Amino acid sequence: MNDWRVTLHIGFDDIDSQFNGCTTHFTYNVVRELLKSVDVEFIDYPNLVRLNPSIPFKTRGNGAVALRISVPKDCEELIIKLIRNMLESYVSSYEDGGGCEPGLAVIVGDVPEILNKLYVKALTDYVHIDYVRNVMNEVRNLILPIGISRGVIGALAAIGWTQNSDCTYELIAYRGLINGSSRCVDKESVKEVDLKYGDYVFNNYDYEGDVMLITPHGYDPVLLGIRGEDPEVLIKYFKELKICEDLSGYMVFRSNQGTDSHLIKRDLDEVRTYRTLCVEVSLKSKPTILRGGDIIVKINDNPPLYSIFYKETSLPREVRKLNIGDEVIICGSVKQWSDLTNVINVEKIFVKERIRIYERNPICPHCGKRMTSAGTNKGFKCKRCGFRTKDLSKEVIKVVEDVGKSYITNIRAMKHLTKPPRRYGRERRCNFVKPINHWIYSV
Ligand code: ATP
Repeated sequence: MNDWRVTLHIGFDDIDSQFNGCTTHFTYNVVRELLKSVDVEFIDYPNLVRLNPSIPFKTRGNGAVALRISVPKDCEELIIKLIRNMLESYVSSYEDGGGCEPGLAVIVGDVPEILNKLYVKALTDYVHIDYVRNVMNEVRNLILPIGISRGVIGALAAIGWTQNSDCTYELIAYRGLINGSSRCVDKESVKEVDLKYGDYVFNNYDYEGDVMLITPHGYDPVLLGIRGEDPEVLIKYFKELKICEDLSGYMVFRSNQGTDSHLIKRDLDEVRTYRTLCVEVSLKSKPTILRGGDIIVKINDNPPLYSIFYKETSLPREVRKLNIGDEVIICGSVKQWSDLTNVINVEKIFVKERIRIYERNPICPHCGKRMTSAGTNKGFKCKRCGFRTKDLSKEVIKVVEDVGKSYITNIRAMKHLTKPPRRYGRERRCNFVKPINHWIYSV
């Protein structure tokens, strides 16, 4: 990096409310403005960083964003001021008064290691604001242009997503006019294009339910989002869609979506409310079907811990045949019931060992044929040679079944972070990636 330039890592979060705005849309506005007004070089695609999906304050998918740019040193202050002003005016336009706690954080130069730790915690655990204050005390090159708020947690965590971890991409297109909640995108064209690009894209179309998944349903400015492995493919995909409403433009994000990075291995004694995890257990109860079709299974006695398989995930039909003692790995996030018992909302389950016990009648000791029951409490009889006995008992057979089988939430119920089956084997180590041409477009 030459002496005239400086690298800025800029994090945003919580710049949306229930009915207005969206953090990625704000980022799209900022990027357009930066490209127009200053000599800015993007050293990576804007990062769309999903954080812990079980955090209660999230509006939708707990997404935060980081920009990584190189700018002339003498523009640093100007850029920060520009973004602060844009943020203030974006949030003040909310008709429902907001209710958000926007966060804006800037790291000048290299990202300190401690922010990577914060990212991992914000991805897999609950982060208290005091934890963040302690982190901030250790970081010298941090600027908080609008001070400390809850949104700073996500903003700093997004900046901290720098490790060599797996990544994917999402092209998000924005509406020209927010005209109701339904989007005018031709479903058949989505299906056709999605089939064409096959394994380069994921979670854009639900073939089982015949539903397109790229369009949201709220009043936010997002028209659609297409997920995949390669920015170039996403741009082609988008251009081939039939869209019948006004478009503002699109931008490609690099993301931790679809990577399972939140599902970290933990021991049973590390289970806490709001943590995400994979935990290896031996089942303590048979599956119990609740009213409505959800299934609950006890996985620890002391302290009591349950796992719940919600009907809409389609997991209940897969886990019905589990039994006490089955060895499984359960992955998901921990919630707390009103009686303070912890329960894991299951996203994935891997069967390590499922022992089935069968019983069958004994073999006749005289002629070798399998015997039949001679009646209640009357022992067994042999149909071939007529031998009868009360001294033999049934044979017990143990069979190990379903070893290595895994069951995953259906595509409609998947969290943004959940790795879909078609991504297995496609994992890679990503670092900052210089954007290709046409990564951003505005009408
Ligand atoms: P959108 O997807 O529209 O951006 P969202 O679902 O991402 O909305 P936010 O409005 O960003 O939700 O709200 C999430 C809030 O929770 C932010 O203020 C963020 O800083 C905070 N947060 C995120 N992860 C954690 C965590 N692990 N612990 C505590 N707070 C968190």
